[in-house]
Amino acid sequence: MSFLSDTNYVFIFAQNHCMKIAVFPGSFDPVTRGHESIVRRALPLFDQIIVAVGVNVDKSGYFPVEKRLEWLNQTFSDLPQVSVESYNGLTVDFCKKMNASYIIRGLRTSADFEFERSVAQVNLKLVPDIETVFLLTLPEYVMVTSSIVREVHRHGGNIDQFIPENITI
Ligand code: ADP
Repeated sequence: MSFLSDTNYVFIFAQNHCMKIAVFPGSFDPVTRGHESIVRRALPLFDQIIVAVGVNVDKSGYFPVEKRLEWLNQTFSDLPQVSVESYNGLTVDFCKKMNASYIIRGLRTSADFEFERSVAQVNLKLVPDIETVFLLTLPEYVMVTSSIVREVHRHGGNIDQFIPENITI
């Protein structure tokens, strides 16, 4: 006996076999214009992008996870193909759960590259059919890091030019 209609089967088939689903993992503490730019530039490459806030049980972060998720949702509210989630544990396990075959990462500097290469190679060893796709940062966002935004915020500076236009922190 089946609980699924033909339409459901078609939908599930499409989800598992045809749709290009990517996860963009990070701390997003907070989201910056650099993150936003990566997601918007990745749109033509994928059918669905899941921006995923990795929650580290040993590290609470600067902004609460709920606020980070709220700001991400506001940033991408105009994009139906982008969703926002949080996850614990390994990124590749989260990708499998979401049927995602791609991980998106941004590369700002050569230091980013060295670090990201190791992570991507370990992820490939763990799950060979999940590929990491790197996008080079636009030059104007190379210096925009969440840690610098946090530092400016902590000391009462104005962070507006570093965060997406449609959010208020
Ligand atoms: P993580 O702690 O996983 O590095 P971040 O939130 O700092 O989380 O970054 C998430 C992703 O966004 C990473 O791939 C990072 O390289 C990328 N990224 C961060 N800042 C920028 C930026 N200014 N331009 C482009 N990509 C960026």
